[in-house]
Amino acid sequence: MNKIVLITGASRGIGREIAKTLDQKGYQIIANYNKSQEQAQKLKEENKNIDIYKADVSKREEVHRMVQYIIEKYHKIDILINNAGISESKLFTDVTDQDWYQMINNNLYSAFCTTQEVLPYMIRKKEGCVINISSIWGIVGSSCETIYSITKAGLDAMTKSLAKELGPSNIRVNSIAPGMIDTDMNKIYGKNEIENIKEGIPLEKIGKTIDIAKCVSWLVEDEYTTGQVISINGGWVII
Ligand code: NAP
Repeated sequence: MNKIVLITGASRGIGREIAKTLDQKGYQIIANYNKSQEQAQKLKEENKNIDIYKADVSKREEVHRMVQYIIEKYHKIDILINNAGISESKLFTDVTDQDWYQMINNNLYSAFCTTQEVLPYMIRKKEGCVINISSIWGIVGSSCETIYSITKAGLDAMTKSLAKELGPSNIRVNSIAPGMIDTDMNKIYGKNEIENIKEGIPLEKIGKTIDIAKCVSWLVEDEYTTGQVISINGGWVII
């Protein structure tokens, strides 16, 4: 039976590209989406092995229902990709409690919750792979994106801790920390701002969604990488 892959936030951007790439390799994908029904439907229609499921992954009961749907239909989940996320740029002094909870719930609680719901099925099989899509900003911090950076640093801490806890169950947990990738998330930047950013990147270009999908594609087949934060950023951040 094909490997079963759950990708959160797969209607657009990086998650969508990961879904398409793994579909081509013969994996059975469950592409989660929340608001972008039309894009999700199109993704399903244009690909062979993509099933779609609407759930707001910042809500426990919706995540629970999604995981139950997958288990009833496919009987297992081999690979989980926690990709869903939002971003917001604001001065730290302007951030409200509501902003805080919205960012934490969408970027961090979502991954905690989804991983917790999926893990029992991986532990039972003594096999699994979890990939968290974090960010360079979780590594080096970002002005006016403190809460976003906190969520991404939190994801990397989850990756490292879970890798230690789950290694004996043969479950690998890794983060991919992208630099700037051309998706809707960066539509807030104008042409000049993008040009300025490119000047600071050694490879002199913004990344493409396929750059991240290629790394996912390698990582799901690897057998000896766990607890790592792999940053794909054109050399923008070198640590
Ligand atoms: P994007 O184009 O804005 O897409 C975000 C995706 O997340 C959408 O499919 C959206 O689904 C989904 N999503 C958001 N909140 C959700 C929720 N509560 N439940 C379910 N789905 C939800 O963003 P992207 O650039 O592809 O970003 C993907 C991930 O990469 C994020 O975690 C982001 O932080 C990270 N990242 C991106 C960059 C970059 O430069 N683009 C850099 C570093 C890290 P709906 O539209 O269906 O609601």
